[in-house]
Amino acid sequence: MICILPILGQSNKKSQTKPVESIFPLILRGGEIQVQIRNETAEKDWNQYAFEKTKGLIDAYESYTGVNFHQAAAPIYKSLPESEKNKIKLVLKDAVFLNGTRIGGYNNVSGDLGKDLGIFMEPGIVPKGYPALLLHELGHFYFTEPSWLSEGIVSFLPYLLAKKGLLKLDSEELSAVTDEWSLEEARPSKDLPLSQDFRALDPSLGLWFYSKAVRTQMILYKELGNSGYKSFLKQITLSETLNTEGVLKILNKIQKKNWNQILQGWVLPGAYGAYPANSFLQMKEIDKL
Ligand SMILES: [Zn+2]
Repeated sequence: MICILPILGQSNKKSQTKPVESIFPLILRGGEIQVQIRNETAEKDWNQYAFEKTKGLIDAYESYTGVNFHQAAAPIYKSLPESEKNKIKLVLKDAVFLNGTRIGGYNNVSGDLGKDLGIFMEPGIVPKGYPALLLHELGHFYFTEPSWLSEGIVSFLPYLLAKKGLLKLDSEELSAVTDEWSLEEARPSKDLPLSQDFRALDPSLGLWFYSKAVRTQMILYKELGNSGYKSFLKQITLSETLNTEGVLKILNKIQKKNWNQILQGWVLPGAYGAYPANSFLQMKEIDKL
């Protein structure tokens, strides 16, 4: 799984402070894990805040999907040495580089991007009170492949979980979660289906990718209803490797529908079918469903 944080809001503050390492034990349904936070910035009270948000999100994921963190994250930990298992590592740095380029943040919990494991972030993109990207990256312990599906789910779920009363977010944090994904991004002239992961083909279409991926989840939520969507997420989490065809199989198992038509234009090639390109431009539209 390779996940580069999509937003590059960067602060240029340089701090000469010593790194502060915090280790928070977190008791979950499947046992204890450790949340390790290495903070190389001057924002020292960020550690406690990030831990509280992490705890809240993982609790809410466990209760909504019905799948324990330990089970959901097993494929990620499988290839890691024993000493790295059952840990969530967050690293806050003034400037985050990957292969010599400053990218603002990246997710390397599985080790695909080198030996330094963790979720790396700059304080400018995840300040206290603005946890959208932190919540997104933590969600990838549950959802990794295919990217059109996982990127949409982990961006959309914090909002849904907050609305269901499972995740406590104040109004500023809730706005962070709704504002982060540019849902109203204008449709580009070159509009490809998500299954082609066009982020890699053309980086200028990045915001459109996330907008489409989140709104695809809103379509699925509307079509499946709350209990159907929950059971969909559970089956996705429990499938170790998954491609688009596998996702369609799971959808059909939950509800027999013309999913090809519903997802045409969004995920699958072809003209937009059941849902036009401007469907669900605001997250709060699901409040009525
Ligand atoms: Zn992601």
